[in-house]
Amino acid sequence: RLLRRYADLSYNKLVTNLTSTPKAKPSDLTKVPFGTVFTDHMIEADWCEDKGWSEPVIKPYQKIPLDPSSSVFHYCTECYEGFKVYSNPPHILSFRPMTNMERFVISADAAGLPKCSPHELLKCIDELIRIDKDWVPQVPGYTLYVRPNMFGTHAQLSVTKPKKAKLVVIMSLVGPYFPSGYKPVSLYCDESLIRSWPGGHGHRKIGGNYGPAIVPAEKVKNLGYDNILWLSEGYVTEVGVMNFFVLFKNKNGLELVTSPIHHTVLPGITRDSVIQIIHEWGEVKMSERNFTIKELITKLEEENVVEAFGSGTAAVICPINKLAYKGKEYNIPTVQGNCGELTKRIFDELTKIQYGKVKHKWNHYI
Ligand code: PMP
Repeated sequence: RLLRRYADLSYNKLVTNLTSTPKAKPSDLTKVPFGTVFTDHMIEADWCEDKGWSEPVIKPYQKIPLDPSSSVFHYCTECYEGFKVYSNPPHILSFRPMTNMERFVISADAAGLPKCSPHELLKCIDELIRIDKDWVPQVPGYTLYVRPNMFGTHAQLSVTKPKKAKLVVIMSLVGPYFPSGYKPVSLYCDESLIRSWPGGHGHRKIGGNYGPAIVPAEKVKNLGYDNILWLSEGYVTEVGVMNFFVLFKNKNGLELVTSPIHHTVLPGITRDSVIQIIHEWGEVKMSERNFTIKELITKLEEENVVEAFGSGTAAVICPINKLAYKGKEYNIPTVQGNCGELTKRIFDELTKIQYGKVKHKWNHYI
């Protein structure tokens, strides 16, 4: 009853204030770098401790005036999400967006930010997508990327939960991760590169996990590798900003392995979808279990690694062909057109569902 005094985010209170000067859309999508072109509108809503959520507003995409002492600028009280909107004319649809909303609310809580109803947030986002539907690219492989974001706006330097916060949702054009066919990525692994640790917040989508990973990622790029294979106390956790899967050949058959979800691994929605698909197919054993870099290297030396890939919203499925560890390079097979056979089948299955080519419980029509 106490909670009722504070307003939750409410779709029924949504206010729309549309632009009178829509932007020109890029004529050549192939020339648009990731996350640089935004649609005409955005959502904005404010929260304060004694009142709860303001009415959400859909308004023209614009800058946000903020006090320089805002909590987010000092203590990274911030969380975000990312999912895509696909066109399958005459329909537009998104993929398991409710799962993103639920993860967003959990991340907000971890960042000391307020919760909001994931259902109401999704209803507001669907309305934003309907308003900017002409921005959803019709070219295969191109999508609209939805970025919900919440941050502490409380103008006060004490290291405490912000008493004020802002929720923003923006949308940007994104192209295919592999515009000219698969290009498998190479990985670099080193115990000194740490993204997450037991008891930490690596399993939450909060800005504080991502900023500090930028410099290590650049260093590894300068060494000639595409991504970091992250470890936590010797256990393999993730790759870059993707979950990691490896197909092992064991004495009694094939086993697709990925790290279980705990404090060191983000509960990826693509990861969960891969696991469900593999269980449904029932062809290879699906294991969510801890495995060390030592086990991975042993399997590579025995030539018992069949394939490896990363999973995430951006790339969907990203084939891996090389791992550098302790001064040695190990090749990972990529048999079919730069991509392992199972890796390719999973990619095809997931993208078929995401574009609504088949009816599926994960489709969310807008
Ligand atoms: N791990 C990390 C660290 C990530 O940032 C992401 C991207 N959200 C993923 C994994 C993949 O998650 P998802 O499949 O939900 O995009």
